[in-house]
Amino acid sequence: CGIVGILGKAPVAELLVDSLKRLEYRGYDSAGVATLEGDHLARRRAEGKLKNLEKRLQAEPLGGHTGIGHTRWATHGKPTENNAHPHATERVAVVHNGIIENFRELREALEKKGAAFKTETDTEIVLHLVDSFLQKGVKPVEAVRAALSELRGAFALGFIFAGDDDLMIGARNGPPLAIGHGDGEMYLGSDAIALGPFTDTISYLEDGDWVVLTRKGAVIYDKNNAIVHRDAVKHSAST
Ligand code: GLU
Repeated sequence: CGIVGILGKAPVAELLVDSLKRLEYRGYDSAGVATLEGDHLARRRAEGKLKNLEKRLQAEPLGGHTGIGHTRWATHGKPTENNAHPHATERVAVVHNGIIENFRELREALEKKGAAFKTETDTEIVLHLVDSFLQKGVKPVEAVRAALSELRGAFALGFIFAGDDDLMIGARNGPPLAIGHGDGEMYLGSDAIALGPFTDTISYLEDGDWVVLTRKGAVIYDKNNAIVHRDAVKHSAST
């Protein structure tokens, strides 16, 4: 139900949770974060309140300057730790708001090809779709572009990739998704409130847009995969 992502200069796990707290007003039943520790994706997730996730992180801290976080409002699959986002393979981690309507067909097709699904969520199809392209050697940006063309439904998505500390991809078709512009840092979030602690300079994705973020900035594509400009607007940090 809430998404945040940080390409930062310092450890991001705590910052991700602080940002998720600002999205609590939307309601949620579980939460999680994933970061890049060196070349590896690592994650912590918990049922219930963010306090539970904070306890998990205190017991088993996560390093890494690149990460994504999520508060989930379950639509497909019970609100368990296993169904909580981020979902991840060894190559890619994803957070998702909304519903993937054609997940059953896509899941059957990928299962026939050998993909091992571990959750009851609609979201996991996005993970395995992108992962199936990565396994074939397709680069992350092209893998996400190819996956997006197969998805039907409502989604805001955020991805990070093992082995690329300077890459985050977001996509929007329905639920809002905003980009936060920092100084050598970039952010992704469900809204400007989530990004308030980090930056007041925000661009909003339009429906069908997807964005490739590096610490240098954002390249935004529209639904036809043409590069587009979306204005950056100033928000006061208190909102
Ligand atoms: N449909 C997804 C799930 O049930 C995402 C729900 C949400 O927006 O939090 O896991």
